[in-house]
Amino acid sequence: MQQDNRSAVVVIGGGPAGLTAAYELQKRSSRHRPLVFEADKIVGGIARTESHNGYRFDIGGHRFFTKVSEVEDMWHEVLGGDFITVPRLSRIYYRDKFYDYPLKLINALVNIGPYESMRILLSYFKWQVRPYRKEENFEEWVINRFGGRLYMHFFRSYTQKVWGINPKEIRADWAAQRIKNLSLFKAVWNAISGANDTASLIEEFEYPRLGPGMMWEKVTELVEEKGGEVNLRSEVVKVNRDGNHVTSIDVRQWHEDGSAPTESRVEGDHFVNSMALRELIHAFDPPPPPEVIEAADKLKYRDFLIVTLVLDHADPFRDNWIYIHSPNVKVGRIQNFRAWSKEMLPDQNTASIGMEYFCQKGDGLWNMSDEDLRALASQELETLGLAKKEHVIDAAIIRQPKAYPVYDGEYREALDVLEEWILSLDNFQTVGRNGLHRYNNQDHSMLSAMLAARNILGENHDVWTVNVERSYHEEFEVKKPAKPSMKTALAAE
Ligand SMILES: Cc1cc2nc3c(=O)[nH]c(=O)nc-3n(C[C@H](O)[C@H](O)[C@H](O)COP(=O)(O)OP(=O)(O)OC[C@H]3O[C@@H](n4cnc5c(N)ncnc54)[C@H](O)[C@@H]3O)c2cc1C
Repeated sequence: MQQDNRSAVVVIGGGPAGLTAAYELQKRSSRHRPLVFEADKIVGGIARTESHNGYRFDIGGHRFFTKVSEVEDMWHEVLGGDFITVPRLSRIYYRDKFYDYPLKLINALVNIGPYESMRILLSYFKWQVRPYRKEENFEEWVINRFGGRLYMHFFRSYTQKVWGINPKEIRADWAAQRIKNLSLFKAVWNAISGANDTASLIEEFEYPRLGPGMMWEKVTELVEEKGGEVNLRSEVVKVNRDGNHVTSIDVRQWHEDGSAPTESRVEGDHFVNSMALRELIHAFDPPPPPEVIEAADKLKYRDFLIVTLVLDHADPFRDNWIYIHSPNVKVGRIQNFRAWSKEMLPDQNTASIGMEYFCQKGDGLWNMSDEDLRALASQELETLGLAKKEHVIDAAIIRQPKAYPVYDGEYREALDVLEEWILSLDNFQTVGRNGLHRYNNQDHSMLSAMLAARNILGENHDVWTVNVERSYHEEFEVKKPAKPSMKTALAAE
């Protein structure tokens, strides 16, 4: 495949990270040629846009917001006028009531009632006086900052829904990464004062008019225009190495006509990976030492599925999305794609509603037939009082494995082992969300890929610290002041 004398850079995965690595490399060097291999039939990874009978939808709504100026620059460089600014409206549904989100004091007090509000406050003071000495897990971290009562109402059930495990089994670093330094007082002050200077509590956000996939389809075009390759239906099944030097990958190519897949070997000078670390480690030939494989097997993931329901009338609610904390329904979050961009729908007299379920590959939800999922989602929409199920006229179901890297008790140690071994390879880097097993949004997934591309060109960046330390250093580049937010406290991604 190396038809010219440019240095071949093999990129595993055509999601935001893989495509950004290819784009950045071509932007900075004419001596390198990226060869991207993507297992799926479309680009964009978890940030792709799927379509069904003309209805376009995300794998969970994807907002474009960032504190990283170079990422923002790339977004605008690529899509320019195709970005729209979307006013944000979202609420939390809990115990048959809708709470404004971000929280507004009067609305919250009316919903909770004065008696329960007092109990929340007392519980907060109690935990301020006698906090957990050591904050090892998510529950302890949150209770120390918000008190036990608020934790019980707004954190426990949703966190349980998202992760499928007891919040005590989730490491405190997840909370620290997502919630940062917010306290109950800051949250209440924001609610009273309407303070809104945080990146996450933005009242509006950017969005490509045809969904996030539009960004990645455009980047693919640009990479190909400059002579790079983006190969779809191309699953990397082996990463071949000679000692600490990676020599080639084996690619299984799936054909559109359904004929038997073919395999080929592709050599490269440099390699950038964005597939999940656990699978990557198993793809190496010869395999890494047993302790590295053992560490990889400790990494866990949370899967996700979305049932997009088309309704025979427009907008059953005005929100972009609603978080569903109530434990009596399985749905975790509900999108209204027309409120993201009207161009996501071919018919403005209909609605496209994304019912999001957090699940585990192989569990009851994941294994449900498409018809049963459609019936479940339609019924839950009706139970929540948002639309009658007889108004559902079409549905599309997408199952997304490995949507979330899990931060459990053993992941951190395992990751240290993997990092050390991967860093011993002299021409191989891993980037992105599952490629670093980090809860990264597109921006940090992209930033790690940009840095990897620059490393190939002779710079020296530590991609493993993106979204760990760098988020603090970034303050210099921040356009809006970065303050902690309650967004991810109450509602994960
Ligand atoms: C529900 C949800 C909502 C989100 N909302 C937002 C949001 O609002 N804003 C935001 O910025 N981010 C959001 N994110 C995060 C965002 O989706 C990720 O940060 C981003 O997609 C990560 O990019 P990536 O390239 O690292 O990984 P991925 O998107 O996972 O891409 C990896 C790619 O590699 C391919 N691949 C895997 N294995 C192989 C193989 N063996 N061979 C070849 N190809 C392979 C996959 O098919 C995939 O295309 C959200 C995520 C979820 C789950």
